[in-house]
Amino acid sequence: MLGTFVLFLLCILDAAAFSVSGPPEVYTVRSSPGKGFGVFAAVALEPGSIIMRETPVIKITPPPLHEGFGHAMREVGVLVREVFETLPKDSQAEIMSLHAYSTTTEQERPDYDELVPIFRCNAYYSGNEIGLFPKIARINHSCRPNTSYFWNEQLNRRIVYATRPIGVGEEIFVSYIPLLQTSTERQKRLDQYGFKCTCAACAADTHSQKSSDRRRVEIRQSINILEEHSAIDVPGIVAGKRKLQILASESRQLVDAVEEEEVADYYSQCYRLAAIFHANIQDWEAASMWARKSYHLKMMADATSPGTKEMELLTTLILATWEKEVKENATSQVWH
Ligand SMILES: [Zn+2]
Repeated sequence: MLGTFVLFLLCILDAAAFSVSGPPEVYTVRSSPGKGFGVFAAVALEPGSIIMRETPVIKITPPPLHEGFGHAMREVGVLVREVFETLPKDSQAEIMSLHAYSTTTEQERPDYDELVPIFRCNAYYSGNEIGLFPKIARINHSCRPNTSYFWNEQLNRRIVYATRPIGVGEEIFVSYIPLLQTSTERQKRLDQYGFKCTCAACAADTHSQKSSDRRRVEIRQSINILEEHSAIDVPGIVAGKRKLQILASESRQLVDAVEEEEVADYYSQCYRLAAIFHANIQDWEAASMWARKSYHLKMMADATSPGTKEMELLTTLILATWEKEVKENATSQVWH
């Protein structure tokens, strides 16, 4: 029974064409030493620059999840093959040229279909569906990527954008996995793609690797703690105020840590937390700065998503409260 399932869920690229409509001169695809193909910047890119916008060439509604085992691979294979057969020959050829990793056991199955590992190693969750993006699939993995990506439901596109300045000729990397894990944990996840990660974080000397591992675990723990306390609240008692000061300080350290570790997928979430905790201690200047940073990133991802709407409200609330306080202070200075 278990043999019919593969750890499909874990293999889907998560943790970021057929009609790529980003300007094609932004990137080039060529061989990358030790990695097959890779995507390289053709021009200098600033943070926020859009690198690719791609609609999925194959999109399927996955069969139900089986806890601990992911999706039934055979069922996924049938759905993918069905769509694949309807595609033009050049699209089929593009898909079949993508990297795939499968075990010998898998290959020896009588119903083995090469399309299945290709889909497993290159597809992304896209809303409630799973999509294959052949151009984005050419981007290699790094645990310290220089881009991030998101799925825009309304546009039916996955969008890749720079998260730090990228020089001409520099390789573009995304992350295939959630990044707040130690290097050993990350490699375990990446084994399913059949490669050993040699990114800056994984290839660093032991000392740097240990401090990076420690920082990633701390970031994960800190996010969990701050999310638990993240309801906007006005401090009522002295002890509460002191606690809120500590939380605000922790949120600042969290932002420093994610920026230092360059785990851009978490920037928006951490800026939001810093905004909330600085609003809680009435540090409106800092709160509005973090709120705007988070809002900007969410806007880029999807202007209409609930997360963007929430950040818009929060930013407006912080600015309005700040303005009110400034006016009240000005009035009290006039009268006293
Ligand atoms: Zn790595």
